[in-house]
Amino acid sequence: MRKTWRVAVAATAAALAFGTTACGGSTDSKSTAGGSKEDLTIGIKFDQPGLGQRNPDGTYSGFDVEVAKYVAGKLGVQPDYITFKESPSAQRETLIQNGEVDFIVATYSITDKRKEKVSFAGPYFVAGQSLLVKADNVDITGPESLNNGKKLCSVTGSTSAQKVKEKFAKDVQLQEFDTYSACVEALRNGAIDAVTTDDIILAGYSAQSPGDFKVVGKPFSTENYGIGLAKDNTELRNKINDAIEAMIADGSWKKAFEDTVGKSGYPLPAPPQVNRY
Ligand code: GLU
Repeated sequence: MRKTWRVAVAATAAALAFGTTACGGSTDSKSTAGGSKEDLTIGIKFDQPGLGQRNPDGTYSGFDVEVAKYVAGKLGVQPDYITFKESPSAQRETLIQNGEVDFIVATYSITDKRKEKVSFAGPYFVAGQSLLVKADNVDITGPESLNNGKKLCSVTGSTSAQKVKEKFAKDVQLQEFDTYSACVEALRNGAIDAVTTDDIILAGYSAQSPGDFKVVGKPFSTENYGIGLAKDNTELRNKINDAIEAMIADGSWKKAFEDTVGKSGYPLPAPPQVNRY
């Protein structure tokens, strides 16, 4: 069975207690004294350009991927020892609760409801919900114009779909898919009229298909992106919070943003304050 980061740390602590060193020059970091591995399985999205994307050559890119790699580095895990696992919106709590991932960096909003099942470090980014329509659309300008049976697509298990159900045009027809990329394809072929989720996610899709789509209206929610981990694993949460603060302080956060989703034209926001609860 895969050893978790927590197990690896326990093994390292035991090795230190017995007077051995866990970081000898020639020691492969993957094989420590107890036979455990210092590796991590991190949940990301695979289909969100600029944020979390699996590329055709099998590499991964995006702001969430950069955050994940930085945090892993601070936990003593090099990029080669990270396994990225696809974490669709509706499966995130379950993946954490089942121990299938060590933590998740996947445009994952911190909410009280989710905190009943998992814990969050962060926030490491703040976004807001918005709408994506075809570039030539003129009748959808914001959530208030989503009436008259307009077809709106969002993703199962997301705060975006929830918000539409709770707060917006009663006449809108909400269609829920498993991924935003499926929504964007439905928008492209005319099966739906608009896609709703966080503005930064929509900016990534829009930049991927120049001239095809546009983000409309002002953001109508506040989405604090956290790093989801096992409930009440305070030690790991504190270490991840330390890493997020370091990433912001040493300029890596800004650089990661500019190298990834910032290329879409989404303006660099002020970095958030980590919540030490
Ligand atoms: N940030 C929102 C959420 O966590 C929407 C994006 C997503 O589904 O990943 O539900």
